[in-house]
Amino acid sequence: MENVDFKVAFWGVRGSRPVSGPHTVLFGGNTPCVQIQIGERLLIMDAGTGICNLGNQLMKKKGKIKGEIFITHTHWDHIQGFPFFTPAFIKNNHFVLYGQSKMNLTFANLMRGQMLYPHFPVSLEQMGATIEFYEVYSGEEIDLDDGIVVKTAHNNHPGGSISYRLEHGGRACCYITDTEHYSCLDNNLRDIINGADLVIYDTNFTDEEYVGQESYTSKIGWGHSTWQEGVKLMQAAGARKLVLFHHATHRTDNDLAEIERKAQKQYPNCVAAREGMVISLPVY
Ligand SMILES: [Zn+2]
Ligand SMILES: [Zn+2]
Repeated sequence: MENVDFKVAFWGVRGSRPVSGPHTVLFGGNTPCVQIQIGERLLIMDAGTGICNLGNQLMKKKGKIKGEIFITHTHWDHIQGFPFFTPAFIKNNHFVLYGQSKMNLTFANLMRGQMLYPHFPVSLEQMGATIEFYEVYSGEEIDLDDGIVVKTAHNNHPGGSISYRLEHGGRACCYITDTEHYSCLDNNLRDIINGADLVIYDTNFTDEEYVGQESYTSKIGWGHSTWQEGVKLMQAAGARKLVLFHHATHRTDNDLAEIERKAQKQYPNCVAAREGMVISLPVY
């Protein structure tokens, strides 16, 4: 699998809960889901509501669907699309879900939990596809074969969350969401994004909102970061393209375009994630 395409497609870019309405049509309102396609290998980051549209797209192809789904953590916005992921209902399809156990509950039981009968009429076991679970330990490196390696790091988030770095053929894409910066640089995150081609980063807040300026209450301790901190991290790690991600629910399309403009002034190789955006990593 040398020199194959390494493409990153955005299906859900909003944090906390899905939003809709005339002010969200450009950037989108679905919660986190990013497809990383490396040749024939399908890798999915998070199963927020964006995964529903990804599922519908995958269903158009003929043949079995096989993929790996990496869950950062099981807060609703990162898993709530999974019960509606149509390919998981089809026999002979095969998915491996990666994630972390919490509070004496295995990762598998956390994923099953949202589909218990009082919450949802179909249990995870009844879905139809073969679904396997893999418990991830922060810091672990996972070999996915075909030259694809996944590296992980711990995020600063209530209950914890995981950052993922996917590498193939000398290229790397990092998915860093639901993490709060510290007063000094987060060395774990700097190391995991070191030299990466593309970094998708939690920019739920601005610096002003974070500290409680501009009539906002302080967001310290809420588990999210800012675009300004994202820029600092990119510069410290020598990474290339920054994608602003996990947009706050109240942001309109105009708000996001303005944040993107401000961020690009400080760091030109930067874009705010929007649904439908596809980024191809360069071939070296
Ligand atoms: Zn979130
Ligand atoms: Zn979260």
